[in-house]
Parts: sequence; structure tokens; C-alpha cells
Amino acid sequence: MSFSSLGLSEQLVRATTDQGYETPSPIQAQAIPAVLSGKDVMAAAQTGTGKTAGFTLPLLQRLAEQPRTGKGPRALILAPTRELAAQVHDSVALYSKYMPTRSAVVFGGVKINPQMMKLRKGLDVLVATPGRLLDLYQQNAVRFNEVEILVLDEADRMLDMGFIRDIRKILALLPAKRQNLLFSATFSNDIRKLTQGLLNDPVQVEVAARNTTAEKVKQSVYPVDQSQKTALLSKLVRDNSWEQVLVFTRTKHGANRLTKKLEQDGITAAAIHGNKSQGARTRALAEFKQGDIRVLVATDIAARGLDIKQLPQVVNFELPNVPEDYVHRIGRTGRAGESGHALSLVSADEGKLLAGIEKLIKKQLPRKEVEGFEPKNNLPLKPKAKADPSKARGRGGNGGGNGRPAGKPRSFGARPGGRSSGRSQGSGQQGRRQSA
Ligand code: AMP
Repeated sequence: MSFSSLGLSEQLVRATTDQGYETPSPIQAQAIPAVLSGKDVMAAAQTGTGKTAGFTLPLLQRLAEQPRTGKGPRALILAPTRELAAQVHDSVALYSKYMPTRSAVVFGGVKINPQMMKLRKGLDVLVATPGRLLDLYQQNAVRFNEVEILVLDEADRMLDMGFIRDIRKILALLPAKRQNLLFSATFSNDIRKLTQGLLNDPVQVEVAARNTTAEKVKQSVYPVDQSQKTALLSKLVRDNSWEQVLVFTRTKHGANRLTKKLEQDGITAAAIHGNKSQGARTRALAEFKQGDIRVLVATDIAARGLDIKQLPQVVNFELPNVPEDYVHRIGRTGRAGESGHALSLVSADEGKLLAGIEKLIKKQLPRKEVEGFEPKNNLPLKPKAKADPSKARGRGGNGGGNGRPAGKPRSFGARPGGRSSGRSQGSGQQGRRQSA
């Protein structure tokens, strides 16, 4: 199958060829014709499946069918985080490079005036985070009367982050006649409620989640006392000569503390989370990608949607409160068809969280003790509750890497089916996710 056989224009096909894409990914194969047909679309897809091109390419084509008559925007793409909004906009700019389409991105945490200026010039596609978009609307910097297509990207994360009221306010301001596209990694009750009022007879698109407990990811647990975690992490980074490792902490405060300690230990590190200014986040990410810093410490929400590929190591400095986040985290490694390693430093007080994860992924993770770091308080060896497959929400056994070695064409190999299904929205038992 080719991009042109999906009905995309020569300009758009050329842009994908420039990117080295050979064939459409499974989500693209399904979503592109559906969006081109003008119907509403509800897609279950995570980052890494090629979803961005899945909605951007056909959206650009639909807009190109008629020229803009006013100032726009004609397509509105809402995304939960500044990073994701910026990345989606990069894709829009990239795929529309052979077209006259104009686009812009707006998000909070940076000056609003330059964004107002951009909007004044007129544009076709606007990518935005919900809060800043409403600010701009309230200041009369943007109007919605020409919106023909609305995209909610990572809708589940937007709800997790408390954007539901902003989203509803925005929906109320849009013209009733429009095409709606909703992308979400999971379909909780809240998402379903949102889709009911939003989507009209949608085409449903579903593909395998990438790296759902990817086979290519070697996973291990390092039992260690809480007080020894930083020292153990330093040792692992040094002994294994890791040059690029993404480390997850549960809280922003924990991310800052760990970064400081690593730096004191002579290991270059930076933290990325919601309290950091946009400039600091962008800088940290760029330095990490360039290899100027070895360790990027991130909270779950800040890390989500980051376009960092082919990481050889991911470390859970602390286990996430929500077991499904473990799957998201380890999905950061083992890409590009290469094997990756996901390590979790687990202290005895995290035994319950570990049991929840092992139950979800339906396997026990091997424990590896490091000499000199043996914990005083032992971890339970086996998950307490025996895994009950009928109740487990995740599905394993899906290991489709899709990055590419430099210079090689990029292709999404066929993946075995099965996507991770609904994630609990902050389970009562294990506490709500921390905001990033
Ligand atoms: P996404 O899921 O949208 O975050 O995309 C994940 C990555 O896949 C991005 O780096 C895209 O550039 C890349 N990508 C998107 N479509 C294709 C394709 N058809 N073939 C190869 N790579 C792709």
C-alpha cells in the first residue's frame, strides 16, 4: 500500500517521501481514507503509531480542496501539553511544505503577544493547548467561526490533566457543522462521555499499541532501599557507560532533587516537568537529544508525547502510581527494532505497585540485586495476587519497533494485534497520578 493509493495528493505524498516513509502505518491506512471521506473519526492510538500523520495528512488535503476566504483557523488541533502541541505543529509544517497552507501553534508559558500577531496574519491550521487558546479567544485574538475540522489529540491525557471544562467551553464556541477527529490512547468512561456529545456516527479506528510490554524491551527490577536509589542510579550510569537515559520520577519535586544529586555526582542531568518554563523544557530536551546531557529526569505527564526515539535505557526511579503508566514509560525504549532495557529501582514500600504492574503485564519481572546495594527491606518475590487474565486490562506480546537506522527508509512493520485497553482514571486504591 502506498500513500498515493490512499487518495493523498502528489504534494503530500512527496512530503512523506522526503521523510523516508515507505508505506502508511496501520493507523494511517485506516484513518486517512476515513478523514478524507469527511466523516467523524474516533481513533485508539498511542504516540509512536504514526497517528499525527494519520490525521494531519488528510486534514491538509481537505483544507487544500478549497482556498481560505477569511483569517481562519479552518482546522483546530487541541493537544494536552506544550511539547506535544509543538511537535504536532512541526508535523503540520513538514507535511504541508509543498502547499500554500499556513499554520501556527499557541501554548501557555510563553508571551501571548507574538501569538496574537501570528493569528492576525491569518492561517489555516492552528495547533493549541486548551488554556492558552481560551485566553486568546477572550482577548479577541482568535475567532472560531471558520473552523471546519476539530482534532482532539491525546484526549485521554487532556482529561487526565483537567482540561475537560476548557474543552467543553471551546466546543461550545465552534460552528455546529464541522468534522471531528478524536485520538486517544485509552477509552475510559470519561472519554466515552465526551465522544457521545461530540462525534457524529464516527468511523472507529483501532490499532495495536506499540510496545505494550514490548518483547524487545528487557525489563528488570533492582530491589534497593529508597535511601540508596540515587547512589545506585549513579553507579549504573557509570558502570554501564550510559550516555542517554530517561529516568522517571513520580513527582516534580523528586525530579528536581534527583537531577541536583546526579549533577553533584558529576553526571550531567536535567529535569523536565510542568513547573519548568517552556524555554527550560525545550532546552533540556534539545541538550538531551544532542547528547550534551546524559540523564533526562521526567515526570509521566511531561514525558508523554515527547518525540525522543531509540532510547537504549529507561529507568523507573520510582514506580508509577498507575500501572498502565509503566507500559507507557517502557515504551520509550526498545524502538528501532533494537532491544532496549527498562530498569526499575524498587524499594520495599513499592511492593504493591510492583505487584499491580506484574499483574497488568502478566509476567513476573526478574530481580537483580547489585552488590553493595542489597536492600535491608526485601521486596516480595512474587506478586501477591495471582494474575487473573480475565481481569487484566492490558494485553502483552506486542513488540513492533518502528524507528529506523539512520539513512534507512522508515516503515511500520505489521504488528500483532491487541491494544492496551482502558486505563483507570486515577484508581482510588493507588491514588491519583501526580500532575507533571
Ligand atoms: P506519532 O505516532 O505521530 O508520534 O509518530 C511517531 C513517529 O513515526 C514520528 O517520528 C513520525 O515521523 C514517524 N512516522 C509517521 N508515519 C510514518 C510512516 N508511514 N513510516 C515511517 N515512520 C513514520
